[in-house]
Amino acid sequence: LNPDNINFSSDELDVEKKLRPLSFDDFTGQEQAIENLKIFVEAANIRGEALDHTLFHGPPGLGKTTLAHILANELNAGIKVTSGPVLDKPGDLAGLLTGLDERDVLFIDEIHRLSPIVEEYLYSAMEDFKIDIMIESGPNARTVQINLEPFTLIGATTRSGLLTAPMRARFGISSRLQYYDTELLSTIVQRSAQILKVPISMEAAIEIAGRSRGTPRIANALLRRVRDFAQIKGNGTISVEIAKYGLKALNVDAFGLDEMDNKILTTIIQKFKGGPVGISTLATAVSENAETIEEVYEPFLIQQGFIIRTPRGREVTDLAYKHLEISKPRNQGE
Ligand code: ATP
Repeated sequence: LNPDNINFSSDELDVEKKLRPLSFDDFTGQEQAIENLKIFVEAANIRGEALDHTLFHGPPGLGKTTLAHILANELNAGIKVTSGPVLDKPGDLAGLLTGLDERDVLFIDEIHRLSPIVEEYLYSAMEDFKIDIMIESGPNARTVQINLEPFTLIGATTRSGLLTAPMRARFGISSRLQYYDTELLSTIVQRSAQILKVPISMEAAIEIAGRSRGTPRIANALLRRVRDFAQIKGNGTISVEIAKYGLKALNVDAFGLDEMDNKILTTIIQKFKGGPVGISTLATAVSENAETIEEVYEPFLIQQGFIIRTPRGREVTDLAYKHLEISKPRNQGE
């Protein structure tokens, strides 16, 4: 299950919003990041200043958008939301920037996908809270500089490696989000179940959590699907039996690995004798871009102990053979 591949209907998007924590207290996990953010927000609130520009990076579905909204709430400020590919020209950005009140948040998702001219336009806005805008047209066209209210730019990216150095340097706060362990995810599943008003046993919450690829968005999506099984095949309560039944019917891998995760492991084993293999060779073999493998897939596979990084490239571990039920050749990996 790749969080990007889960198609949400508009109803489901509403549910997704409903499940979104609104304050620091509501938010589970990312302890280190939250601890720091609380201090920065409190200090900004006491000084009555805008929070420093903040960058969130990490794999999809770990809560970057959620945290941007939480920061705006905790700053008692407004938020405007946009994304890199949507901002076509500097004019699009100017419209958003001039509409911001003092201390408001501008959230730009997929900030690594800003076009270079929009990105450059953003620099002076971030640094001096000033932008140039073009007024009139034809022979009377001229640019005037206007002052913006001090605001906070929050950028989110799954691909921090693709961010330009000048862009990165303009963020005072940078926070990498981590995968969630099963215990944290089971707390999130229980919280979501409560909001959805579906009874769930602790054991069932843990079962769902353990198969969610360390990702709250996947955990919530699986919970909603399992809830359907509980309603139709059971008595409405999510027991561990119903959870297991539903997850099996949904073809969810025991570790929550998705198709690409499994493809990466199988490819390293079958085409490269278990590794080591270089990232670009591997990327070509699985037809995926090398940065995406490095930033979206590999961190989870490494964290779960399926892959190790060596100076000569990536190698699969015994756990990968076991998981894929492939027997490991005798003289390999020594
Ligand atoms: P993307 O970069 O793909 O947009 P994201 O990192 O911005 O993903 P969010 O949209 O913030 O992820 O989170 C996805 C869903 O997971 C949200 O609906 C939210 O309810 C839930 N979620 C994320 N983090 C948490 C958390 N710490 N506690 C509870 N729910 C969470």
